[in-house]
Amino acid sequence: MYLYNTATRHKDEFKPQNEKQVTMYCCGPTVYNYAHIGNLRTYIFEDLLARTIRLHYPLKHVMNVTDVGHLVSDADDGEDKMEVATAREGKSAWDIAKFYEAKFWQDYDALHCSRPSVISRATEHIKEMIALVKTLEEKGYTYRTSDGIYYDTSKFPRYDALVGHARISGLQGGARVEMSDEKRNPTDFALWKFSPKDKKRQMEWDSPWGVGFPGWHIECSAMAMKYLGHTLDIHCGGIDHVTIHHTNEIAQSEAATGEKYVNYWVHGEFLILRSGKMSKSGGTFVTLDVLREKGYEPLAYRYLCLGAHYRTQLEFSYESMDSAAKSLKNLRALCSQVRTAAQNRAQQTDKSRAWKEKFTAAMEDDLNAPKALALAWEAVRNAELTPGEKLDFLQFADTILALDLFVQPEVSSEPLPEEVTRLLEERARARAAKDWKKSDELRDAIAQKGYVVKDTPKGQQTEKK
Ligand code: AMP
Ligand code: ZN
Repeated sequence: MYLYNTATRHKDEFKPQNEKQVTMYCCGPTVYNYAHIGNLRTYIFEDLLARTIRLHYPLKHVMNVTDVGHLVSDADDGEDKMEVATAREGKSAWDIAKFYEAKFWQDYDALHCSRPSVISRATEHIKEMIALVKTLEEKGYTYRTSDGIYYDTSKFPRYDALVGHARISGLQGGARVEMSDEKRNPTDFALWKFSPKDKKRQMEWDSPWGVGFPGWHIECSAMAMKYLGHTLDIHCGGIDHVTIHHTNEIAQSEAATGEKYVNYWVHGEFLILRSGKMSKSGGTFVTLDVLREKGYEPLAYRYLCLGAHYRTQLEFSYESMDSAAKSLKNLRALCSQVRTAAQNRAQQTDKSRAWKEKFTAAMEDDLNAPKALALAWEAVRNAELTPGEKLDFLQFADTILALDLFVQPEVSSEPLPEEVTRLLEERARARAAKDWKKSDELRDAIAQKGYVVKDTPKGQQTEKK
């Protein structure tokens, strides 16, 4: 497998440290608001990577949930995003985190992103973060200001390694204007922030330096190394994290351990709106619920994302959503015909194996999902493959594409209630996983909503009771 590595600026051959377990850390959501579909694009690309790795190796995939400490500004000023949401919604910071985290996983599952092996919440790892800051203090990398403990980036000579010197100098130039008097260097960042003297924070902890809360960057280093060791095979995130967050993670982790932190840095490009950047704090964002309300199923959004390479920007529009939804519907209809023609029996032959290899090679070439998706289209229309061979290949392809290619949504003049559609999607997944007990339970749940579900060679069919 080849992956574009931000650290080397090449497509590098992927060699895990230990073939018995690949280690991967992905920066998770900050749970002070709904995830927008830009955030979700990043999790879809990370899921494609996870699924492709799992074709060859067992994978330990860790994702954090930032439920404290992410400040409104990356320059260590402004308030904590969680506490800001408290004022906005009149709920406790803990309730806000719980609510948006639950919502996040709902969206994540609906997009068929496979769950990480470990989900680590920042508020449950304060001890590990304090220990890491202490190590950095003992090694002479920290200093104290009136509002916190800071990392002195001038003590870490490789600070600009990930981004390149030019961009860091640009950053310094820009940051200098706003730099607080007490910071020694523009790129220095907070490891531990003190609670304000005049105000009690909802989320605060004791530490050797005083009551306060951890910086956002220390969170990822502490949790990644706790679960995956000092050197990770892969660390992922959106492209916006390269300059500050990941650069700071390297500085903290490598200064503390004296070892290389990450072998492959893999970053996904942004989803953008015609009007510019999609941003949570700016309030200009589209969520998966907005798409659902407009009648799109979540997997149509996954289809849209698969059609663009993860390292190219993707401009979102409702025209492209329409076309993704239509293509997915057509592809499923063709898959369904293949299955009927094959009488539901997949036929593994040298030819179907060769197609699987082509598909795998596309994914292993820096996750070329557009090419992999194109192969699925070519296969359904191919005149040389038998229906059984096509079925064998397409079922394999769908273990990576995860588009429910063999679910044929019921055509009806009356749209199904959203809840019934959701239950049908869940049931299709349960059936694909041969979880018959769950499939039966979901059939009962659908019946309670007033619909009878039948399993036909074309997939699930529903009728009103
Ligand atoms: P956050 O919840 O803001 O910490 O972001 C979660 C993930 O989404 C991070 O990996 C970000 O880099 C990524 N991200 C943020 N905005 C976008 C966007 N517009 N398109 C793609 N990924 C994004
Ligand atoms: Zn992170």
